Parts: sequence; structure tokens; C-alpha cells
Amino acid sequence: MVIDENKVVTLHYKLQRDNENGELVEETFGSKPLVFLYGTGQMLPEFEKQLAAKAVGEEVAFGLKSTDAYGEYNPEAVVSVPKAALGIESEADAEKILVVGNTLPLRDQQGRNFTGIVKEVDPQNVTLDLNHPMAGVDLYFSVKVEDVRPATESELEHGHVHGPGGHQH
Ligand SMILES: [Zn+2]
Repeated sequence: MVIDENKVVTLHYKLQRDNENGELVEETFGSKPLVFLYGTGQMLPEFEKQLAAKAVGEEVAFGLKSTDAYGEYNPEAVVSVPKAALGIESEADAEKILVVGNTLPLRDQQGRNFTGIVKEVDPQNVTLDLNHPMAGVDLYFSVKVEDVRPATESELEHGHVHGPGGHQH
């Protein structure tokens, strides 16, 4: 069986920045594999495209341009906000949280979660980089396909995998 729409794919991968010699970002080899329902938009579209028709046991390595991954780096997404707008309770908390390099969990007015990386702190304001941490970065994946099976009817209905590596319900 090969990877195709409506298949549950189990794979191990290694992700590096830039190319095959780049810094390791994450890898599943030696721990729990990634399990996902192919063709439902859970993964980057280009990532899925590279895996089409691959069989169990196959190994594949490929690069993704940042534009096919998490997008270009947007300099306009670096913003200065008043400290008071961040809703931090006390000055002591602020000192702990507002440290250059820290990632802050934030929520917009629609209730969507996103993150901002602290770039600069002055007495009144904080400069946050709201770009995705991998924005502007080319990615390099090394993948080994471990298993491919047809999705069950209820998996297709729910749009996600059930059982090991998926939803337990
Ligand atoms: Zn479900």
C-alpha cells in the first residue's frame, strides 16, 4: 500500500534548517513516530506532495522553500506594544516573563492563540516578533515511511486519526 488520499500514514522524520547540513530542529527517530491522516490539510501541502505514492519502508529526503513552508519573514510583524497591554499582573512577573528571547503565548481579539518572541524591553514598551519561529527558513526533511493503512469511516468523518498516535475517543 502506498501513501494516498484518505490513508493513515505513520512515519519518522528529521527536520533541519536550510539543508541536509543544517541545524537539527526536531526528529522522531528513536521516539514516537508521527501519525496523520493524509490529504486533510494537517500537514504542509508541499510536505504531503513529496510523500505521495511512497510505500512502507521507503526513505525520502527533500527540501522545502520557506515560501512552501511557514512563509516569508515579515518585518512588519515586529511590533512595539505597551507593557500594560500584555495583562501581566505584577512587576515581578513582568521581570520574569519579559526577557529577550522568551516566547510569549498571546491571544487576539478573536480568541486565536499565537506567540510572540520578545526582542526588546524598555520601561514602557515591549518589542515582539510575531512571525512564526520558522518564517523565512527553508526546511529539510528526511523521512522514513513506517506504515500506511486505509482510514476507517469514523476517522474520515472526524478528519483525524484514532488509536495510537491519534485521538483516543
Ligand atoms: Zn475522532
